[in-house]
Amino acid sequence: MLDDIPSLNQLLKILQQIPYLASKNVYKVADHFLHMDPAKIQQFCSVLMQANEAVVPCENCFCLKEQDRVCLFCVSKKRDHSLICIVETWQEVFAIEKTNGYLGVYHVLGGVICPLDGIGPEDLTIQQLLMRIDNGIKEVILATNQTPEGEATAAYIAVQLRKKQVEVSCLARGLPVGSLLGTMDRLTVYKALSERRRF
Ligand SMILES: [Zn+2]
Repeated sequence: MLDDIPSLNQLLKILQQIPYLASKNVYKVADHFLHMDPAKIQQFCSVLMQANEAVVPCENCFCLKEQDRVCLFCVSKKRDHSLICIVETWQEVFAIEKTNGYLGVYHVLGGVICPLDGIGPEDLTIQQLLMRIDNGIKEVILATNQTPEGEATAAYIAVQLRKKQVEVSCLARGLPVGSLLGTMDRLTVYKALSERRRF
């Protein structure tokens, strides 16, 4: 039947390429687009293109920033630049920022070490992190997710940091196994950070 409506077929196919869109929702999202006002559709497309072009990682901490602006974290005078929180992606930065309780800076790894997916330490920003450590960093908080890959990545980084004069801590105990920072509520994230312990 879809062959007779090739435009709909195409729309469904492109929506199916979005990795986080559950397949049961594809028809609903397609329906939403089909009923959207043409002006809104245009706005939607231009916002997508603009974000895709203008949102880039900071060359220092790899948090996201606007291409033609400075990184809010790296230039901030209110932040403690001797304290770095290491996270997997920018999503965790947002989760931590929502707590309003962290005043250090960040380092975004860009993922986790996962040999099965062919992702090794060299595919992450670990080398750049080690270069940052030598510039007056006193403490590093390993805040990778508590998944097997997240913990293995934290352990790998901790070994690399052994040669450096820096305190290494990690999130508080008592978090549910497999918990993801990005999906925790604000208070839990705040407690995990403020009650951090030595690694
Ligand atoms: Zn930055």
